[in-house]
Formats: sequence, structure tokens, C-alpha cells
Amino acid sequence: MPADATLLPIVQLGNPVLRTRTRDVSAADIASPHLGVTVGAMQQTMYAAPGVGLAAPQVGLDIRLCVLEDREESIGADPDAGLLERAHLPFTVMINASYSAVGDERREFWEGCLSMSGYRALVLRWYRVSANWTDEHGSAQSREFSGWQARIVQHEIDHLDGIVYVDRCLPRSLSTSPNVEAFWGQNAVSEARTQMDVDRPL
Ligand code: ZN
Repeated sequence: MPADATLLPIVQLGNPVLRTRTRDVSAADIASPHLGVTVGAMQQTMYAAPGVGLAAPQVGLDIRLCVLEDREESIGADPDAGLLERAHLPFTVMINASYSAVGDERREFWEGCLSMSGYRALVLRWYRVSANWTDEHGSAQSREFSGWQARIVQHEIDHLDGIVYVDRCLPRSLSTSPNVEAFWGQNAVSEARTQMDVDRPL
């Protein structure tokens, strides 16, 4: 079977599934072989996109499931990896996940979403979060994430609550991806804030 046989279409903003509060996955469903097939298809779809995370609603499923991975080769190819505090995140399956902030430190960076293709915006996120989830083997997991990993975790788990990054972004910073690259790149958030006059009241 070719690798792309399992690729799933990624739904775009406006599809109501992206605005649904997803339902928990039962223990019986976690044990079912169907879950492994879904996880495998989501993993391949995330790689092909490419992305560092994919939540079930993005492939049209209203279940509390997401997959995440930040690969060494992607981090190595990113000149801003240090600034963003990107660190290798092995492939992780989060079922019935939730997160909460640890401390009150936050960071603002450009963020995009495979379900709003072609755009990015500045999003203020918690620098450190604690996440709880069940893994694909049915075991409870809990750990803290910081830096870019914390941003991935917040973005993906938000999807499970019907929240998309534009709900949390600075609206005036919304830009096409080519324009972010052309005008600022990842490491010039303050210049972008000034030039886009992001704090100007309407
Ligand atoms: Zn997304």
C-alpha cells in the first residue's frame, strides 16, 4: 500500500466540526483496533501536511484525540529554533487530553493552523503548561511542557474544545504566511507589532 493511501483530508475553518466540543474516547474504543488505524492515518496526514500536530476535528472526527511530534530534522532546519525554544518532541498520541497553565509567564509568536491554510497571526500563549491525557495503550500520562512544545500542546488541545488559534490571536496581526516571511520572519515580533499597529483600538 502506498504511504499516501492513508492520508485524510484536512477540513478548513468554517466546517462546524472545528467548533464542536469533542467527546471523550471510551476505554473500549482505545482498546479497539480502529483507534490504531485512525492514529496511523492522522500521523501520516500530519507528516504529509507537514505539521507538528493534528487534532481529530481537523480530519472531521469529533473525538478527543490529537497527535503531536516535533522532529529533529525540522528543528535543525529552522534558523529560529533557538528563539522559539523548539525541542524534540517524540510522536505522542493524546486521548482525552486537557492542559492548565503553570505559572503566569507567556510568550507571543506567529502561529498557523493546517485548518486555516495560508495564514498566520501573533498568539500569546502560556510559556509552561501541565497536560494530562491517556495514551494509545490506555495508560494515564501527565507531564509539563515549555517553550514551543507548550505552544503545540495548547494549540492541539484547544482544537478538542472547538477553539482555533484565531480565537486567541491579535486580530490586527493576521497575515498571509508569505507576508510574515517577507516582512518579519519569526524573530521580529516587536517590529511586526509596531508596523501592524496591533494594539490600536478600533
Ligand atoms: Zn490547528
